[in-house]
This record gives sequence, structure tokens and C-alpha cells, in this order.
Amino acid sequence: MAATRPRVLILGGGFAGVGAAQKLEHADADVVLVDRHDYHTFQPLLYQLASGLLETTAVGHSLRDLVERQENTTVHQATVTAVDLHAREVSFDSMAPMSYDYLVFGLGAQVNFFGTEGAAEHAFPMYTLPHAIRLRDHLLERWEAADKDRSIVEDGALNIVVVGGGPTGVETAGAVAELYRGVFAKDYPGLPQEHARVILVEAGPELFSMFKPKLREYTSKALADRTVEVMTGELVSSVSPTRVKLKSGKELEAHTLVWGAGLQGNPLVQTLGLELERGNRIGVGPDLAVPERPEVYVLGDAAAIVDEKTKQVLPQLGSVALQSGEHAGETIARRIAGKEAKPFKYKDKGTMATIGRGAAVVQMLAGRTMTGKKAQVAWGAVHLALLPTNEDRAKAVVDWAGSTFTHQRVGRITVGTE
Ligand SMILES: Cc1cc2nc3c(=O)[nH]c(=O)nc-3n(C[C@H](O)[C@H](O)[C@H](O)COP(=O)(O)OP(=O)(O)OC[C@H]3O[C@@H](n4cnc5c(N)ncnc54)[C@H](O)[C@@H]3O)c2cc1C
Repeated sequence: MAATRPRVLILGGGFAGVGAAQKLEHADADVVLVDRHDYHTFQPLLYQLASGLLETTAVGHSLRDLVERQENTTVHQATVTAVDLHAREVSFDSMAPMSYDYLVFGLGAQVNFFGTEGAAEHAFPMYTLPHAIRLRDHLLERWEAADKDRSIVEDGALNIVVVGGGPTGVETAGAVAELYRGVFAKDYPGLPQEHARVILVEAGPELFSMFKPKLREYTSKALADRTVEVMTGELVSSVSPTRVKLKSGKELEAHTLVWGAGLQGNPLVQTLGLELERGNRIGVGPDLAVPERPEVYVLGDAAAIVDEKTKQVLPQLGSVALQSGEHAGETIARRIAGKEAKPFKYKDKGTMATIGRGAAVVQMLAGRTMTGKKAQVAWGAVHLALLPTNEDRAKAVVDWAGSTFTHQRVGRITVGTE
């Protein structure tokens, strides 16, 4: 009878989980990839889906499709409900518990409303595919409703408040402003653009605190050029369907509040019995395994990975997640083949964000910076490389090129269900 092969159980089909699975293609192992969705979500482009720049299939990709050539890999759609590191077993909502020889934990992070009143019920977070589609459909619905009944415009039906002066908030505010001024201005010529305000609220004194001052100045100007109103030093205290209250006492009339203000670790990390680092992330060793559990690899947003060069914890970025996933996949394959594990070395792709067409900022760990069209090209190259297949890259390039030259948005229809 053939000896059974080791089982590598990968939790999460994000950048980290998919990167690990793909590097295990030739390993003498049974690889099982489990995610609550049957698709991989490309989070950096969610705001482009919400603002109609890209279609759903450019941002979500079938997980089965991504590993279909791998004979040793199976995919299951199920939600992880518990992980028992001691018993080496994982439980799910809709299938029998599964044991493992190696565990890859890539369940990412989730939105954090910091207990803000009404936010969980009424805010529009930007973390999943359903979030982005819900926001896009809501914006289209508000403009359609206002076109039929102008009285709701005065009540703030077209105003949008975006919370968070980091990349998610800035990118969303810039993209929505371009959607409003470029596309909706033509689609709804009777509706007053001055009553369609895009307001970006940040609690700290400045936007993009992680970037150098000259990149922050560039960003403020690029947002102003796109008519985004920026309010810094303001905290949102409560949200209702039509009003946003700030701690300073101000009240904003807005039927839409986008939440791009914070992340927290996946709640399962708190149940593992491991010591947690800042942001509820799990500390890992140089090979990305948990020091006291060498068969458990924690990756991407769920992990606190210390960069071997800077000795700083790496940021929660797609490139960190993908590279850590690929490294863990290679390491597990090496260990199964009886070879030594190697330490993880992060290749810095830079921290970057787009503000709109032709406007972006890039900052490398070594300190080099770029702005404008050059930065946008660099942003495009890094994000195209992160997309999981050539087909996805081609789709994104066609949609981006189309919107650049025609200023049109491919995804501005509401389908819903009847
Ligand atoms: C709006 C937004 C914009 C961003 N922009 C950029 C950017 O421009 N550039 C960049 O580099 N990074 C960006 N990031 C960060 C980047 O997307 C993340 O760092 C990266 O996705 C982390 O990858 P991951 O694999 O660790 O986790 P994720 O990509 O979050 O994947 C986790 C997976 O686990 C699954 N999952 C979670 N809980 C369960 C459960 N209980 N059971 C089963 N499955 C579960 C989820 O469905 C998901 O597929 C952005 C993030 C957001 C939210």
C-alpha cells in the first residue's frame, strides 16, 4: 500500500494563500485550499469596481481556475470556524473537520469600525467584492433617485463622505470625484454637481501620514483639483442613513459614508492561543513559521513579519502577502523533500497609491519617490504583476486604457436580483 502523503491545509485564498498553493504545485503532498468564497479577491482594485472603472471579473477570480492545472490541489468553499493547533485540526461551517501536517494561515484582516455608532449598519466598507458592488449600486441608485425627485438632492442624496486618509480613503475619494465630474455630469445633466460633494475625513492632522511631506502636498493638490473637500483632525462619531456626525459637533448631510479607516486582525487569530503583536497580528520567525509551531505558517495581513533589512514589521500590502505566500509554499515543498528552510527576504515594490487619472504617488523603502504619470505607470506595473492570471491583466489593461482615453466607466449598470 502506498504511504499517505503529507497534507498541506491552506486557509484563505487571498494573495498569501494562492501564492503558497501555486508554489506547492510539484510538492509530493495533498494540498487543500479553503476559502469562504469560491473566488480570490483583488482588494487593491476594489475601489475601481465601486467606481465603475473595472468589471467584477477583473477583481474577483475563480480559485478553482487558479489551481486547475495542479493535480495535487483541491479547493473547498467553506468558512473556517476553529483552528486547534494542538490537535492539528481545523473545523468548518459546512464540511467535516480536517487534520493537517502543515498549516498555512492566510485569513487576512477585516474592517474595524472602532465602535462608531451606526457604522456597522449604515457605512459602506471596502474590503470585499460584495462591499464594492454594494457601494457602486448604491451610488447609481442615489443618482437615479435624485434624477426623479430633485428634492432629495438638498438633503444630501448625492454627497459622499469617505472616512480615512490612507490609500483606501484617498483612492476611493479621487475615483468617485472623477466618476461624478466626468461621467455622472454627462449622464445626469440636470443634477447640480455643486450638490454632489465628495468629502474626505481624516482623524489625524494630515492625509497619507506614511508618505514623505512632498508626496502629501502633491496628494492634497491632486485631490483639490478633483474637487475633493478634505477635512483633517475630524473623527466620525455616528452614522445614520442620511447624516454623518463628527466629534467636533459638525453634521454632514450625506446619504453615503465609505469606511476606509481601519483594519483589525481576523477574529480567529485571537483563538489560537498564540501571543499577538500590534494590530492582532501573529509574530513569525525568519522562515514565516510560528516559532513554537514549526508546522504552522502565518502569512500576509495576519502576520507580523519583521523585514530582515530594516528590522521593521512589514506593512499590510498585497506584495508582502504574495511574496510571503510564495516563500511559505516553497519552504514547505523543500521540507517535504527533506531540504532546509530558507529565511524570507522581502523585495520592496514600494508603497503607492493612485489619486486619479495621471495622478499617483510612489515611495520606496530606500526613500526614492515618484509622482504623477510616472508614478501611475509604476503603480500599474506593480498591480498588474499582482493580478493572478494573464487574462486578468489583459482585462484590466483594456478597461484602464478605455477609461483613460474615453473617460468612460465600463461597470456603471445595476443588475441586482429579481
Ligand atoms: C481597499 C483596499 C485597497 C488596498 N490597496 C492596496 C494596494 O494598492 N496595494 C497593495 O499592495 N495592497 C493593498 N491593499 C492591501 C492588500 O490587499 C492586502 O495586504 C492583501 O490582500 C492581504 O492578503 P492576504 O492574503 O493576507 O489576505 P486577504 O487578501 O484578505 O485574503 C484572506 C482570505 O481569507 C478568506 N477568509 C477570511 N476569513 C475566513 C474564514 N473564517 N473562513 C474562510 N475564509 C476566510 C477571505 O475570503 C480572503 O479570501 C489594499 C487593501 C484594501 C482593503
